[in-house]
Amino acid sequence: MKLLEGKTAIITGATRGIGKGIAQVFAQQGANIAFTYASSKAKAEELEKELSSLVKIKGYQSDAADFEATQKLVDEVVKEFGQIDIVVNNAGITRDNLILRMNKEDWDEVIRVNLDSVFNLTKAVTKPMMKQRKGSIINMSSVVGIKGNAGQANYAASKAGIVGFSKSIALELGSRNIRCNVVAPGFIETEMTEVLDEKTVQEWRDNIPLKRGGTPEDIANACLYLASDLSGYVTGHVLNVNGGMLTY
Ligand code: NAP
Repeated sequence: MKLLEGKTAIITGATRGIGKGIAQVFAQQGANIAFTYASSKAKAEELEKELSSLVKIKGYQSDAADFEATQKLVDEVVKEFGQIDIVVNNAGITRDNLILRMNKEDWDEVIRVNLDSVFNLTKAVTKPMMKQRKGSIINMSSVVGIKGNAGQANYAASKAGIVGFSKSIALELGSRNIRCNVVAPGFIETEMTEVLDEKTVQEWRDNIPLKRGGTPEDIANACLYLASDLSGYVTGHVLNVNGGMLTY
């Protein structure tokens, strides 16, 4: 029996990296998938092709930071798929700089794409999920949102904001059988990290207790647990998936 059979998931930012890994694992477990992306149309079509033999899947070009566009996205997904059982707020960006050099645009853009987006989609799915009297919302934070990181004050603030937001939603919507949890990945090796100098990356790996960077599949498997009924009594939780990089 597949863990997500009969469920529909919206995953933001699934054309690359972690989001793509989540779409692949969710599809293998039987979930129908609506996913979004910012501009990678060709990659979106590739993913649709890859997974369409397993489940119903559709990509939507939709800016997660845009409130109205997100409402429209949810209306379209409800019309097309009939229900929304799982939301993974995964889309995120970095605009790293030390505070002395960080400009207002880099601050605003990261907060808008990483944090406003989580508000936008959570708000838009609240009514349909309340009607269904069930739902699982999973928000992608980061180890950096919990411990901070020099050069990433904007990113860390957005990711810490996600934690407070998610805990509040868990408290507000628990009585409607809507759960809200956070996944906090450590260092995950994606296309993004492939461009980094190998020596630096090896040093990062050596400093992680499990002695390797994480994979998109590692994060996807944690999301699978939170999306499925296996975690039916888990809400307001922050799940660290970081190879032991941070324990608390
Ligand atoms: P990634 O490879 O850069 O992929 C980002 C995805 O988000 C892409 O599909 C991109 O679409 C989409 N996206 C970006 N801006 C968007 C917007 N405004 N609206 C809609 N979609 C948008 O990122 P990743 O490394 O997989 O990270 C995924 C999430 O995990 C992020 O929230 C990140 O902060 C978090 N995280 C990552 C790591 C890590 O080590 N990689 C660690 C901790 C947390 P396009 O392809 O169209 O640009």
